Amino acid sequence: MQFRDLNRQYQALKPEIDAAMLRVAASGAFIMGPQVAELEQQLADYVGVKHCISCANGTDALSLALMAWGVGAGDAVFVPNFTFFSSAEVVSHIGATPIFVDVEMDTFNISLSDLEAKLAALPAGLTPRAVVAVDLFGLPADFRALRAFANRHGLLILEDAAQGFGGSIDGQKACSFGHIATTSFFPAKPLGCYGDGGALFTDNDDWAALLRSFRVHGKGSDKYDNVRIGLNSRLDTLQAAILQVKLKAFADSELDAVNRVASRYTAYLAGRVATPHIPAGFRSSWAQYTVQLADRDRVQAALKADGIPSMVYYPKPMSAQTAFAPVAHLQSPCPNAARLSATVLSLPMHPYMTDAEVTLVSEKLLAAI
Ligand SMILES: *Cc1c(COP(=O)(O)O)cnc(C)c1O
Repeated sequence: MQFRDLNRQYQALKPEIDAAMLRVAASGAFIMGPQVAELEQQLADYVGVKHCISCANGTDALSLALMAWGVGAGDAVFVPNFTFFSSAEVVSHIGATPIFVDVEMDTFNISLSDLEAKLAALPAGLTPRAVVAVDLFGLPADFRALRAFANRHGLLILEDAAQGFGGSIDGQKACSFGHIATTSFFPAKPLGCYGDGGALFTDNDDWAALLRSFRVHGKGSDKYDNVRIGLNSRLDTLQAAILQVKLKAFADSELDAVNRVASRYTAYLAGRVATPHIPAGFRSSWAQYTVQLADRDRVQAALKADGIPSMVYYPKPMSAQTAFAPVAHLQSPCPNAARLSATVLSLPMHPYMTDAEVTLVSEKLLAAI
């Protein structure tokens, strides 16, 4: 069994994906071919925002957003302490200071009450600018409360939906909740390509224009008139063509399929282990199905012995990462993030999992505990 079986998806979509790739090869339009702009429009329509700007990966997408906002030295950016490294890496990379915020035990997403506490206790000399709100494991953060809080305090919300594409709150789609939102098309994400890729979403015309400039070397109205220092961060035409096929499958069937797999897991496991909590009105795109186990490492080893792959996302809070030692003295405790990193275990999860596979994983897990 595979943790995320991408080959099964390829087999299901092979004729269309192969044809799309060959069309790009024959066209010779490898950089910014027509598929890139077509995909951006399709993604913007799917999410329900005005602008989608594709780029080279989800990490660059986060960086580009901070660049467009002019975030830099002396600025504080709040980041959940339980996430993938990129969410905070980009803050340090641009010269700003990440301030780590605890997460909720049931949703794994940023805690508004701890954000309030960390803002109130912000070390002197730092200007609060933005909050990176991550849609962890596919579940949107609590954006209604976050937006109200951010507006009150003049903070910008950067929605890191690298894992969240396809999730929703009362029907409104992830990637539409932040002042700018980002996603990743890394192969194992809910919507993945066959390499690296990413995108940004915003309703703001000025930011959209800045992002389009920053992603191509800070170009001005002419490509060889560079008006700001930017990045080389385009989405390959080949990846855009693959994503056009995959977006259709994602919207037509995969998002529903992965939600059925999650329901089945929960039906087996609820009451026996701590299963993921989806608040009323929220929908997850299930980048991961993550349970909490007191003796996680032993259970993971038992599953492995039974041929069941599982993963620990994430074994360390951000504040414990070696690279963040230089900002460690600015941080205050995040007990939930510490507890989760010792107890979480993500189970095999993808839209092409069969009922028999979900049953097998569930039975082996229950036997192991
Ligand atoms: C994967 C991921 C990213 C980075 O995306 P890449 O495309 O790999 O650069 C950023 N944030 C989160 C939460 C992620 O899971």
